[in-house]
Amino acid sequence: MAADFGHLADAVAALEGSGTERLHVDVMDGVFVPNFTFGTDTVRALRRVTDLPLELHLMIVEPERHLETFASAGADAITVHYEVSPHLHRSLTAIREFDCRSGVAINPSTPASSLDDVLEMCDLALVMTINPGFGGQRLIPRMLSKVERVRAEVERQGLATDVEVDGGVDAGNARACVDAGANVLVAGTAVFGHADGPAAGGQAVLAAAAGTPSDGR
Ligand code: ZN
Repeated sequence: MAADFGHLADAVAALEGSGTERLHVDVMDGVFVPNFTFGTDTVRALRRVTDLPLELHLMIVEPERHLETFASAGADAITVHYEVSPHLHRSLTAIREFDCRSGVAINPSTPASSLDDVLEMCDLALVMTINPGFGGQRLIPRMLSKVERVRAEVERQGLATDVEVDGGVDAGNARACVDAGANVLVAGTAVFGHADGPAAGGQAVLAAAAGTPSDGR
């Protein structure tokens, strides 16, 4: 979402080989969140131009209606929101049946315990660290304690579920996210808004996450 939509292929190409391990695609429907972004055609286009795994974050209502379409468009992982999934267990089962990694995202106002009973069905547990809808927001510090609780539950259940943070992640808070228990960091503005380009932006966040800031930015 943070990339230049007019030059999406170039932005993605810049990330290849930069250390970035996944492309996180925010799909918004103007209903669940007050913004629009990509649809399945864009996902297909991205699939053609990159070998990076495509991780789709569906910020849409009734995501279960579209799982097969997004899976066939080239998704490697599909994350749905807890808040719009009354039959979440069924949706996660379906995502795995479409040979994708399954994920659940929770908004800032949704408690960590919402994930407890579906965690064993999740390859990714995504803690929103901003209110979804727009890039460029600042990470809400309290969300890091939620990350700690999700990580503790993953450990308690003996799972390999990724604990992912999404929203306002940058080189300044990446280490705190890791220390709280996140092992996947989604960064948008910090990557695509970096003065030296997306590869440098990604590397700065990764270096900070590892505790070795490369250039102080
Ligand atoms: Zn996202």
